[in-house]
Amino acid sequence: MAPTNPSAPRPAQGAETADRPAGEHDPGSPAPDGTPLYVHLPFCVALCHYCDFFSVTAKGQDIDGTVEALLTEARLRAPASPRTVYLGGGTPSLLSSAQLQRLLDGLDDCCGFRTSAREVTAECNPESLDAAKAEGLLAGGVTRLSVGIQSLRAEVLAEFGRVHNAREGLAAMDAAREAGCENLSVDLIYAAPGQDARRWREDLERVLESGPEHLSAYNLAFEEQTPFARRLERGELVAQPEEVELELFWTTRERCAAAGLVAYEISNYAASTHRCLHNLSYWENGPYVGLGPSAVSHVDRTRFGNPRALDPWRTALAEGRPAAQWSERLGTEERLGETWWLGLRTAEGVDPEAARRTAGHSEAPDPALALARALSAEGLIEERGGRMRLSERGLPVADGVAARFLGGF
Ligand code: SF4
Repeated sequence: MAPTNPSAPRPAQGAETADRPAGEHDPGSPAPDGTPLYVHLPFCVALCHYCDFFSVTAKGQDIDGTVEALLTEARLRAPASPRTVYLGGGTPSLLSSAQLQRLLDGLDDCCGFRTSAREVTAECNPESLDAAKAEGLLAGGVTRLSVGIQSLRAEVLAEFGRVHNAREGLAAMDAAREAGCENLSVDLIYAAPGQDARRWREDLERVLESGPEHLSAYNLAFEEQTPFARRLERGELVAQPEEVELELFWTTRERCAAAGLVAYEISNYAASTHRCLHNLSYWENGPYVGLGPSAVSHVDRTRFGNPRALDPWRTALAEGRPAAQWSERLGTEERLGETWWLGLRTAEGVDPEAARRTAGHSEAPDPALALARALSAEGLIEERGGRMRLSERGLPVADGVAARFLGGF
């Protein structure tokens, strides 16, 4: 599973802005130095049934050509000296070691990430990660490997459409360690159809025993247009009842805390020294640049995105023009709402004054603070040390509470 780039709302696919309004960032120009960089590698062995990220099956695809197109796009608009880099997808580890080396060398030539970035993540899947591949990634400047294990149950992996088994999932963690990885993250998904608390706890404990520095544990979502959503509609799948989801959510928090991994975001657990810096900048509603098909960027209050298809993305770059297909200028209240929406997902919550500054909202009254106080009266948000955060009652319904800040006050 690919957790990132970005957790920001986007316009419907195909929305375009032909005439750029005054003040909107030009998608063809570089972002400020230091801006976090995301690179999307859209190839997978097979497409998982729950996944709504843009990806295609790798067989027969021109991966070398895609790497060259990514480097063309990087030369056009990668920020110099990015603070963090994230290779996501798709399945970056599916590339050969030579392709990964070409990509990492080329990116470093463009933006010097090897000296600037405090964290460089590569998403990996068990079927394409062995110790040699992991070693190559680390030698190329990657500092953090994020392995999509998702489950240790054969029946759940089969239902998800994953192409690896539980043994291969655990072996991928071992391979990362063998290669010298000191910052290992694992993705798991809970609340799969038919999964009960005991089985989830066993999976979780087994993964935690291996001592990853970071864990992402997602409640299974039935995203629109996925095979899972269609099967749910047809009644071929039954989603877990809310009380089971809640039980699994709290079990996850307790077990992770016992293993020293603190919930710093609604689905993410780590010791404070290993929180994902790249994702933290998304949750702070900071700027980022995304390269590759479907990748979204957020620069100078403008959000823009590439097409969710390889051909138009590559054609634009071959013609020497930016590939962005849509862009939108974000208004002050929209930015304020998004800053709260994202910030409430984190354990630190939101500093209302800082949120106003981030959004450029200088005038009182602050509509987001008024909404937060109303939610506080409902017991869903609490104030502590000048920050607003989800209460124990609000945590399990984080998506719904945070979403109240979107779409205008
Ligand atoms: S491996 Fe599966 S979940 Fe990950 S990007 Fe590919 S299709 Fe999506």
